[in-house]
Amino acid sequence: MRSRIVRAGSRPTKQAAAGSFTGIVWQDEVFAPEAPSRVRATRVTFTPGARTNWHTHAVGQILYVLAGVGRYQMEGEAVEVLLPGDTVIIPPQARHWHGGAPDHLMTHLAISETGAAGEATTWLEPVSDTDYLKTPAKPALTMSPAISDSA
Ligand code: MN
Repeated sequence: MRSRIVRAGSRPTKQAAAGSFTGIVWQDEVFAPEAPSRVRATRVTFTPGARTNWHTHAVGQILYVLAGVGRYQMEGEAVEVLLPGDTVIIPPQARHWHGGAPDHLMTHLAISETGAAGEATTWLEPVSDTDYLKTPAKPALTMSPAISDSA
């Protein structure tokens, strides 16, 4: 197989399906799975207040925040603030949502994999305004021991 470059201009930005999101969300495909790989990556931009519905991923998901200020919540845990450079590691079948902050855009790279039978994301109910607007946890700056020891 030969390598190739997929040019940015060949793939238009798409608006995310209204049935699975609240507010306006833009999706740019980075790459789609090509057998034997089952990995895909999408750059997703949430406008302020926009978020996914509650959902699960069959094989989990990795989010890498590229820009803006976002929100993320795993069911049963506090709402978290997401900032550029943060990586969120979401285990298989865990109920969660992600989105922009109420007053900020947020762009993340979403990396996920389908299961062997093609199973991917299971979409659930919208995130209520009450849940979305809960005061988030203070972002924790966790330093590696090497960095904190030298301070
Ligand atoms: Mn997700």
